[in-house]
Amino acid sequence: MWHRLQIALIFFAPAVLIGGLYLLGLTIPVPALGRGYVIRVALPDPNRPIGLPSIAGPGDPSRPLVVIDAGHGGHDPGASGIDFREKALALGLARALRDELVRQGGVRVALTRSDDRFLALDERIEIARQIGADLFLSIHADSAGEKDDVTGASVYTLSTKASSEAAARVAARENNADSVNGVKLAGRSDAVTNILVDLAQRRTSEQSATFAGLIVREGEGVLKFHPDPRRSADFVVLRAPDVPSVLYESGFISNPADAARLPSPEGQQRFATVMARAIRIFFAREAGA
Ligand SMILES: [Zn+2]
Repeated sequence: MWHRLQIALIFFAPAVLIGGLYLLGLTIPVPALGRGYVIRVALPDPNRPIGLPSIAGPGDPSRPLVVIDAGHGGHDPGASGIDFREKALALGLARALRDELVRQGGVRVALTRSDDRFLALDERIEIARQIGADLFLSIHADSAGEKDDVTGASVYTLSTKASSEAAARVAARENNADSVNGVKLAGRSDAVTNILVDLAQRRTSEQSATFAGLIVREGEGVLKFHPDPRRSADFVVLRAPDVPSVLYESGFISNPADAARLPSPEGQQRFATVMARAIRIFFAREAGA
């Protein structure tokens, strides 16, 4: 009996205490730890107009235009290494490639971002499409976490399944309103629209694969590649239906050798030389096709 009373007291004491304080108009003081501030991340207004980048290189608009996309930026650092971040590494490589292409001439170049700013993934595609890009290259660097022996670059194109899903989505969005690869969709039936978008998408994915193959071919013996460098995945930035697009994972910042080489002036120049050559060969083939 006495134990039961003890248990009852233990259970009800807090309720009785709080109830009593409440009746007396009092409250228990609770420490305000962590309540005095709020962390806010400024996300871009989805309705803001996209700022279009300036185009470097020849003023002749008939010259091919490559859009180079440095991954991440702003509040999104990407993968983090010991001393640096993916967003800075990607921007360094993007600038080096732009400078190399401008130096060689003949090709127009634009960067989706030329400073440390945040861009949403679909904004990057939209920039490329709005300025009429003929080729889109997104630059990233990977991290394998604790596995610091994983090393080398990989070249990604959009996976086939993702490609057809993207085609369906674009078809739905652009139905009767726009054109894909110069083919006006206005006034056509859904079925015809789907076929046209599908054809455009197929041609684009062939071009993307060609460019990815050129990167690996031209980089052989110069750049350090992953043992299995050609890959495909559903990257949002590769979903433009009418712009050949490749995502280049330049290496692993979790690997000390990659992390030292990629941001160095020599590493940037080596990348820029190989990539500029792959881009020029791609455009030369397209012009001859
Ligand atoms: Zn990335």
